[in-house]
Amino acid sequence: RAKTSDDQQICLYDKGMDDSIRKRRQLVDELRLGIQTDQLVLHYQVQMNVPDETVAGYEALVRWHHPEKGLMPPMTFIPLAEQTGLIGMLGEWVLRKACEEAAGWPSKLPVSVNLSPAQLTAPNFAEQVQDILLESGLPPERLELEVTESSFISDQKKAIAVLQKLKDMGIAISVDDFGTGYSSLAMLRAFPFDKIKLDKSLIDDIDNNQRSKGVFRAVLSLGDALSVPILAEGVENKEQLSFLLEHGCHLVQGFYYGKPQRYEMLSPQKETPVKVVGIKG
Ligand code: C2E
Ligand code: MG
Ligand code: MG
Ligand code: MG
Repeated sequence: RAKTSDDQQICLYDKGMDDSIRKRRQLVDELRLGIQTDQLVLHYQVQMNVPDETVAGYEALVRWHHPEKGLMPPMTFIPLAEQTGLIGMLGEWVLRKACEEAAGWPSKLPVSVNLSPAQLTAPNFAEQVQDILLESGLPPERLELEVTESSFISDQKKAIAVLQKLKDMGIAISVDDFGTGYSSLAMLRAFPFDKIKLDKSLIDDIDNNQRSKGVFRAVLSLGDALSVPILAEGVENKEQLSFLLEHGCHLVQGFYYGKPQRYEMLSPQKETPVKVVGIKG
């Protein structure tokens, strides 16, 4: 077969391509099976209302219990699902699971679910959500859907129409990852969101960087002007928290208050941080 070194190189290159394509295909097949056989699992991260130290809700974050590779974070398989069309099936699984689980919570707190752009513009998405709410028994007021700017890119008119339909059903809609370039001012003008989730990258050095402080203050007054509450994502320490509170940002999510974990692990005592147990009531 390959006679010259040139040919050999081409052969090796092709083989490498084959390998990665095969691996990718295998992972897609495994993911499809994984969704069908309930290998996915939802972890929940607490969202705190800080001044009164109450839990405002929980965000559902999907993980995959891969039979050989172990617990895989969303970034290792969500993009793959988005590229291969599996996201519809995955997204439906997540939505149904989150609604079913939340319907059984004694706390009756809201649950936030992340949406991929393709889900929003898929045919009959609002009807799918309606069906899942009815089947799970979760009141629409307890469901919050998180979208990013990428949801608006392919078909903005359609995306807005679907979001409006969902909002009319009583579901809250938030902007996720605001400030990363995936969420812009244009989308705030295009749709009346119920919450803005400020990306972790804008919080990271907020306690010691003047420019970060300035940007944060500006976003906060933007929220004020639009009457949209701002939630700070990725809060990890007391210094960040103090700054946020000083500036009137009351909704906080981050490792400081808890990492995402199975709902069962968020037992009533753990539902709020140890230092505030008892205050909640
Ligand atoms: P996201 O929606 O912005 O979720 C927040 C991410 O930040 C989560 O990562 C969470 O674990 C992490 N995080 C929260 N607080 C802290 C903190 O204080 N420090 C640090 N270092 N990280 C923190 P995770 O669970 O790996 O999820 C990553 C992203 O994957 C999510 O970002 C979301 O965009 C996507 N994702 C997760 N679940 C789903 C899903 O069911 N459907 C879709 N379409 N996307 C999902
Ligand atoms: Mg999110
Ligand atoms: Mg996100
Ligand atoms: Mg985010």
